[in-house]
Amino acid sequence: MSDPIDLAQEAEERYRAVALRRHQLRAVCKEPLTPGVCVACGDPIASGRLAAFPVARRCIECQQDLEREARRRGLDRKMEERGR
Ligand SMILES: [Zn+2]
Repeated sequence: MSDPIDLAQEAEERYRAVALRRHQLRAVCKEPLTPGVCVACGDPIASGRLAAFPVARRCIECQQDLEREARRRGLDRKMEERGR
């Protein structure tokens, strides 16, 4: 005969084990960031770009996409003020 509290504890332990495992898997996936490979598309990053930005994690195309997106989200105003 199982005590409901025992069952709840067991369920919680199982839940924690799963969460911990997921966390570990995520950490492992995140860790081996291959230098010189774009994190967004997986293409190799141009060596010229790597020389200029050794910490670059995106290829030029993805970086430009990102910057375009950032500008679209509200940086245009600043750009215009400075530009003209
Ligand atoms: Zn890319």
